[in-house]
Formats: sequence, C-alpha cells, structure tokens
Amino acid sequence: MKISCPKLVVDGELVRYEVSVTSEHLNTMKLFYELDKEHIEIVSDYADAALVGLLMPAMYYGEDIHLEGKVSENIYWNISFRLQKLLQIFIPSLSQINIYAKEIITRDESMQKGHECATGFSGGVDSFCTLADYFYNPLCPKSSKVTMLTFNNVGSHWGGKKGDELFLKGYNELLPAATKIGLPFVKIDSNLDEFYKNESELRFIKTLVMRNASVALLLQKGVRKFLHSSSHFYEHIAVNSNVQPITRTEPFIFRLLSSCDTMEILSIGSEYKRVEKIEIVSNIKESYKNLDVCTTEGAGKKNCSACIKCLRTLTALDVLGILELYKESFDLKTYKKNKNKFLGKVLARNNEFTNEIYELALKKKFAFPAMSYLYSVYYRLRYLIKKR
Ligand SMILES: [Zn+2]
Repeated sequence: MKISCPKLVVDGELVRYEVSVTSEHLNTMKLFYELDKEHIEIVSDYADAALVGLLMPAMYYGEDIHLEGKVSENIYWNISFRLQKLLQIFIPSLSQINIYAKEIITRDESMQKGHECATGFSGGVDSFCTLADYFYNPLCPKSSKVTMLTFNNVGSHWGGKKGDELFLKGYNELLPAATKIGLPFVKIDSNLDEFYKNESELRFIKTLVMRNASVALLLQKGVRKFLHSSSHFYEHIAVNSNVQPITRTEPFIFRLLSSCDTMEILSIGSEYKRVEKIEIVSNIKESYKNLDVCTTEGAGKKNCSACIKCLRTLTALDVLGILELYKESFDLKTYKKNKNKFLGKVLARNNEFTNEIYELALKKKFAFPAMSYLYSVYYRLRYLIKKR
C-alpha cells in the first residue's frame, strides 16, 4: 500500500487533507478528511493520520505500507511493531506488516505544541461526563480543560450516502447544545470507512479506536491533548480476542499513538461505573434537553425510550429520582409502559449494568413495583434455561 504525501487543499469554505492510496486490494483511491476552513490552523500535514487510519486495512490485506509524507518518530516507532502486536491479539487474522517512511521527523522541545484540548461530543452519557470533569469542574487543571468539541464521520453513521446524511443530521442536532455549552464544535467529514470495505474483521465495532485516533492525529498541529471518553469501567479494560469491543483496549492503543513530544491522546472516564456517570451528568443542565443515548435507527431527535440503551439510562434516572428532568429528551410515556418489565430484568441481575442499577436501587432505597418482581421470576427462569 502506497500512501502519497498529504496535501491540504482549500475548496470554498472547506479545507481538505488528502492522500492518494494505491493498494493491490483496494485499487487507487483518495482518502480525505474535511473540515471548515476556519480550522485550517489545527490541521496537520503529517502522514500520521493517514497511516493510523489505514493500518488495520493494510494488516488485513497483508500489504506493507510505503509512506511518502512526514511521519512522527514516536508514531512510526510504535506502529512498526508493538501496536501491530496488540491489534493482532485482538484480531488474530491480521498480519504483521512493514512500514517504510521517507521522512521520519524527530521533534524536540523547541517545536511548537498546539494550545487546544479537544474531545469528541456525541451528546451521550460518556461525553457529558467528560465535560463534567474536564470543562465544568472548577478544579480541573488548565492544561486539561476542554476548549474544543469534535464530531467526526469515520463510519459510526453506518457508512455510504445514508451515513453521510445521518452524520450531518447528528451534527446539526447537537450544534445548539455545543453552542449553549459555549465551545467550538468542529465537524470532520471523511471517507475513511470506504477503506474498510464492509469486511467482517474490519467492521466498525472492531476498528473504531484506530479510526478515531486518526482524526485526533489529523488535528495535532493545534490540539495538544485529545480526551477520548471511555465507555468502560477500569475492571473491564482488556486486550483479549474474546473480549469485545475494541474500545476495551483503548488506553493501550492511545498510549502507543501519543507522540509525547506533540500530542497526547487519553482514554478517560474509566474511574466511573455507568450509573455513577449518569448521576454526575444530571448536574449539567445542558444535558436535560440534549442527552442522546439511543442508537435506534430513525429515532429522531428524541431518544426512542424503549431500546436497551434508553431503558438502562431511564431506569437509572428513575432510581435516582430525577426522571422528570429529562422529559424533553425522552418519551416518558413510552418508558412507563416498559418500566416494570425492565425493572424485572434489574431484579434478575444478569449483566454488569443491571447489577449496577440494582446496587444503586438498594442504596437509594428505591421501591420496586410489585409487577417487576413477577417479571423478575420470568427473567430468572429464562436466564437459567439459557445457561444450560
Ligand atoms: Zn433508544
């Protein structure tokens, strides 16, 4: 796989980072990342972003990478062997490949670092919790205080034309919340997903950490620190092919991609369990109208209030006694229809999240409705039969 020297092209109101990629398996394609021209000063012209974005497809096809642009010394050093080893543990069918770079840049203290501290903003519990600690908390050190929010399109929106539409829709829906929070909200579009070609081993859930890291490195000229909101509690961090998804390996991958002399990419928020995060987020009033936890297709601006993600959030809010605060982002009538059934699952305690809500309910002396006890008998039996 040959990756050309990155070019920054200004096209109307946009600036585009682009490279030509020549590959035996993918033919010749252009990889691009695109954002508003006003952010041009934070876009790096290094090949780091393209290298990180394309590493997993190249390993999947067993193609060595030949880079024509500049690459950061630490990134090159870590990607050449140790990061590949880690990715192979997670996906054993990936091959170890060689990386050839024409220009490896050693950075020293005299080279300027960016000033921004960025974090992705999806409106979800994890990203609001990051803001609670790294933006709203007056004790947060100045060097870690978030100054910029990002929203990217690297495959999380189902890909293709429909994915592009969902990406734009998602951004426009979150923009008022970002404006209210008072931070710039940078939209980064990309066709990176096309290089993953819907291959099962490269599907989004298995590769999203590397995809997101490529966007962080794209911004390394102006961003000194990139805070990535983790979804996992410390106990569930692991590098293991049996433990999905790849986000559980995040702290290790980001450490290897932090070229300490330029940019740090950090996985944060693992010190909290989900119910603890929900309680923290409930102190941010901007979350009341804008909390977005639902991934149900076509759910629109409001969360569907019936899927597992919605129900576990709503139940935690209910146990905390603050459900009404979120009446504008959820349909509480739909929740009430499903409440007893879901609380039955909580009482049957079959996974980490129902365990957490159950413990919270005990702590808060929450009164479970009688119907939920009946449902819990049914769910316990079902789980027992499944186990056999
Ligand atoms: Zn939902």
